[in-house]
Amino acid sequence: MTKWVYSFGNGKADGKADMKELLGGKGANLAEMSSLGLPVPPGFTISTEVCTAYYDNDRNYPSDLAGQVDVALKEIENIVGVKFGDNANPLLVSVRSGARASMPGMMDTVLNLGLNDITVEGLAKISGDERFAYDSYRRFIQMYSDVVLEVGHHFFEDILEFHKEDNGFYLDTELTAEDWKAVIVQYKKVVEDEYGKPFPQDPNEQLWGAVSAVFGSWMNARATTYRKLNDIPAAWGTAVNVQAMVFGNMGEDCSTGVAFTRNPSTGENAFYGEYLINAQGEDVVAGIRTPQNLTIKGREEHNSDLPSMEETMPEVFKQLDETRHILEKHYRDMQDIEFTVQSNKLFMLQTRSGKRTTAAALQIAVDMVEEGLITTEEAVSRVEPAALDQLLHPTLDPKAERNVIGHGLPASPGAASGQIVFSADEAEKMAQAGKAVILCRTETSPEDIHGMHAAKGILTSRGGMTSHAAVVARGMGRPCVSGAGDLRMDYKNGTLIVRDQELKSGDIITIDGSTGEVMLGEIPTIQPEMSGNFSTLMKWADSIRTMKVRTNAETPNDCRTALSFGAEGIGLCRTEHMFFDADRIVAVREMILSDDEAGRRKALDKILPMQRDDFAEIFKIMAGLPVTIRLLDPPLHEFLPHGEAEMQDVADAAGVPIEKLHARAAKMSETNPMLGHRGCRLGISYPEIYEMQARAIFEAAAQVSKTEGQTVEPEVMIPLVGMKKELEILKELVDRVAKEVMEAEGVEMKYLVGTMIELPRAALRAGDIAEEAEFFSFGTNDLTQTTFGLSRDDAGNFLGAYERNGIIEQDPFISLDQEGVGELVEIAAERGRKTRGDIKLGICGEHGGDPASIHFCQKVGLDYVSCSPFRVPIARLAAAQAAIRK
Ligand code: PEP
Ligand code: MG
Repeated sequence: MTKWVYSFGNGKADGKADMKELLGGKGANLAEMSSLGLPVPPGFTISTEVCTAYYDNDRNYPSDLAGQVDVALKEIENIVGVKFGDNANPLLVSVRSGARASMPGMMDTVLNLGLNDITVEGLAKISGDERFAYDSYRRFIQMYSDVVLEVGHHFFEDILEFHKEDNGFYLDTELTAEDWKAVIVQYKKVVEDEYGKPFPQDPNEQLWGAVSAVFGSWMNARATTYRKLNDIPAAWGTAVNVQAMVFGNMGEDCSTGVAFTRNPSTGENAFYGEYLINAQGEDVVAGIRTPQNLTIKGREEHNSDLPSMEETMPEVFKQLDETRHILEKHYRDMQDIEFTVQSNKLFMLQTRSGKRTTAAALQIAVDMVEEGLITTEEAVSRVEPAALDQLLHPTLDPKAERNVIGHGLPASPGAASGQIVFSADEAEKMAQAGKAVILCRTETSPEDIHGMHAAKGILTSRGGMTSHAAVVARGMGRPCVSGAGDLRMDYKNGTLIVRDQELKSGDIITIDGSTGEVMLGEIPTIQPEMSGNFSTLMKWADSIRTMKVRTNAETPNDCRTALSFGAEGIGLCRTEHMFFDADRIVAVREMILSDDEAGRRKALDKILPMQRDDFAEIFKIMAGLPVTIRLLDPPLHEFLPHGEAEMQDVADAAGVPIEKLHARAAKMSETNPMLGHRGCRLGISYPEIYEMQARAIFEAAAQVSKTEGQTVEPEVMIPLVGMKKELEILKELVDRVAKEVMEAEGVEMKYLVGTMIELPRAALRAGDIAEEAEFFSFGTNDLTQTTFGLSRDDAGNFLGAYERNGIIEQDPFISLDQEGVGELVEIAAERGRKTRGDIKLGICGEHGGDPASIHFCQKVGLDYVSCSPFRVPIARLAAAQAAIRK
């Protein structure tokens, strides 16, 4: 018999924290907390295997599931001492979804399940609080109808608002039991009208309705989108958690809250959270009432005049604070918890590893090593490499003038400017059109995820630090200001109202997610400094990783930036990028357009000193670190003059009639330039170009060795080699020039000559190419292009359809296609090493900065990865994680 249902409660559990695949994150952690002896209301988890079976069987459950649920329900009844469906003293349960990874977009929670017209009277009597019983019942009808019967929230909101208005009430707490009874009558009527049947009264029917709604929501559009954005396979399925209810809304000695065991924005080791007195679960996250701070410190930091839990419920707070330490010690990570206090008794409803900003992730990782909770290897493994990007987020220039129009909570760090938009769809549309937008909402919900993704920043007028907007924005690394109460979003009229000002959609604002300020207009930003934690973690990463990290750079500025980020050399210096400077492009064009060697040499003589100076400067900056310089690579047409005026400049410089140049340009035009006269093919047809470049490199190296006393060992790289003979000819040329320069300068220099592997033929023939090449650098941009037969310049137009149709999971130009292109890399590495045991292997395609591709490079045993300067820290961390995983 398959076990479908896993019970927990009373200090025991069938499951454990490491059973997330089967029980989902929530279920596994409830089981773990229960086994730890923490106060968890008893319950059971219906496993993710049921979800899979349900979909495999045309939405039918395994036949023995119902029996197992009955047994588990009995166990709850035994622990709590009351019966499900009992008229006098009913057991009420909550039903929640719980996938392996937290998944906004799915059905979340139904509370108070088991109430009906009869049991509500029982609850009223037994609790001695009629108002509470009917309030609970109306909440249940509303939640259940919304998520199970699909009768939308707004029907119920309207009824409640009208009732309050008619009776002159302002707060929900002003409604009496009689009021709730009247509201319930109307609630039930709207269900009957909209759903076509009365609200279900049978607790069992309610339970199975909720369970099916959870499983059903696994495949809804929002959940599917979220899975896609976060690479969560549909096959994982969700679990369902059914748990005895505890009530945070039974009076002033009750409350409910959410907390992080450390500050999720800064990482500071301080308890951090919010709670609401006399409230139930979702009230806190929904942002309907403004939550109060958990601690005195938090209250003071937020300038709040509402008392903290530490003050209002000191005993329970103490227990909660102890629980915080127990959980951190046990999980050895910062936790995100949910709790409820019923009549001064604490209950834990959830724990999971808490989402945090990158700055907080660094702080926590470094602190936890110091506290002896984790090892440096674990610390390095805990920070998501791609998330380091967040640390490079711009902040507002402190010198810039700011016109602050409103304040909210500093929900997610970084500053952003953009046009006001009021809907997620609009945000997505404008972002696709290349516009920077700030998504402005009263509050956000899972429906808004795509718009939050598209926006530069998010601004809400309601909700706390743990509201949907705040949590999701932090996870995405989008700046966010939440709960800016002095702003009002008027969706209907497309306006944002701040006191006496009215802003329209399209107006530009700036938000600062680190201070909570909202400002009018665009404000200049500056790049942040790296923090001490960052360099500590990076040092640990560097001591663990085995691959070197170089950079792709050719300007002095990029070289310096890369060095400051820890680059250990240059893996690709694209010499052609140096040709575009205003002072040399005319000479370059003159070289290209001359139709004989003499003409080319005349132009090359003008370029030589400029290239030499460029290289000398780079060698100086790189101070002895390896520098790989690639000889001219791109199709020449990229350099051709664009208009008549540019053509005339070249004609003047070369002293030839413009017509001659036109004729030559026409002759050079190619149908398929990417596969045309480029790379080493240029060196074969016009050896004088490569000769000039080699001379510039060696003369610069000789000069820097002499004047700076530095050892410079240039690595000369020949692009687009497909055949050994190509490399043989060009290597001979480079060697000859090197010898000439060394003799002329009277110096001895070490240097390497190698090639890029960026054509399938080169990968396959790597064995004989390695007889000539002293190093290989995988040019995976071109290798991807030529392996797929997919233009790297045009593929973006249709790859989206390939992703939507499930043909590819990711753009292969962003993350290496490990199966196909990767196999060629493996073959080349293996065959290259067989010929030349000490051949140096690296990667310089864009994939060199992509964490998944870096893991692959480690597996293949490359010596280094090379990436753009801003990705160097990401690559260092990813390389360390790859070394750990190996
Ligand atoms: C490559 O092809 O991967 C490469 C690094 O060269 P480029 O992008 O300049 O063609
Ligand atoms: Mg290339």
